[in-house]
Amino acid sequence: MKEVKNIKEMQKLAEEWRKEGIKIGFVPTMGFLHEGHLSLVRIAKKLAQKVVVSIFVNPLQFGPQEDFRDYPRDIERDKKLLEAEEVDVVFIPEAEEMYPQGFQTYVEVTELTKGLCGAFRPGHFKGVTTVVLKLFNIVKPHIAVFGEKDYQQLMVIKRMVKDLNLDIEIVGAPIVREKDGLAMSSRNTYLSEEERKSALSLYKALQKAQELVNSGIKDVKQLKEELKNFIHQHPYTKVQYIEFVNPETLESVEKVDNPTLCALAVFVGKARLIDNAIIKP
Ligand code: AMP
Repeated sequence: MKEVKNIKEMQKLAEEWRKEGIKIGFVPTMGFLHEGHLSLVRIAKKLAQKVVVSIFVNPLQFGPQEDFRDYPRDIERDKKLLEAEEVDVVFIPEAEEMYPQGFQTYVEVTELTKGLCGAFRPGHFKGVTTVVLKLFNIVKPHIAVFGEKDYQQLMVIKRMVKDLNLDIEIVGAPIVREKDGLAMSSRNTYLSEEERKSALSLYKALQKAQELVNSGIKDVKQLKEELKNFIHQHPYTKVQYIEFVNPETLESVEKVDNPTLCALAVFVGKARLIDNAIIKP
């Protein structure tokens, strides 16, 4: 596995591959890798001949009160995991090269970013789309794989690619969970043993949402109320949002009459965790 830090070097390598007709697959990450990330790598390996994984904790997508400084990092461990997956290149750019003095150009998807996480993390998706477009211009992939764990992000990236006519196929990958159902996340490392137990309430709430709908409750107001109470029965939890939205437009629905995305964000201690599932009527 080759390690590339320099932007020009990455571009040159990608260009050489392209000239040889090689299909490039790309998985952008913030590192501290787990099986969720590795599942994306395996999908990319199946769909492309060369696979690039980037590791970059993007300062632009963190709010001033968020966990940019504390975000877990372990590059040496990450490199071993990627090596074992036979990744071709790990791209680890420096923030100073990504955002040099004078940087002032941003990309924004305006509508899909209004609700869900976008409502509580101002500027977050602008930071995501800006860095992802930059990474696309550096890695020059034919396909890129994103997890459904960050469902809104996946939809926002797909929209950006469509709106800006980027010639890249965006592939969504299912959520990888721990044995008990907790969605894997680098932020799970923030959880104490007791908080870890409460963190399962996100997954359980999604299961409960489906059960409630199965029992005939379709009214979203009622569903939200029940789920919020359910989660708050678990110590250290504070619900940020529970939303039921159209899985394509991300617009809120009032009744679960069609397949509906239930998305939630919950603080468990200091860890802000997200999860989602499609609820069927
Ligand atoms: P992150 O390092 O958190 O920025 O995530 C990098 C990519 O991995 C994003 O496309 C995420 O959606 C995806 N990802 C993170 N956790 C999971 C998971 N548990 N299952 C599937 N994909 C995931």
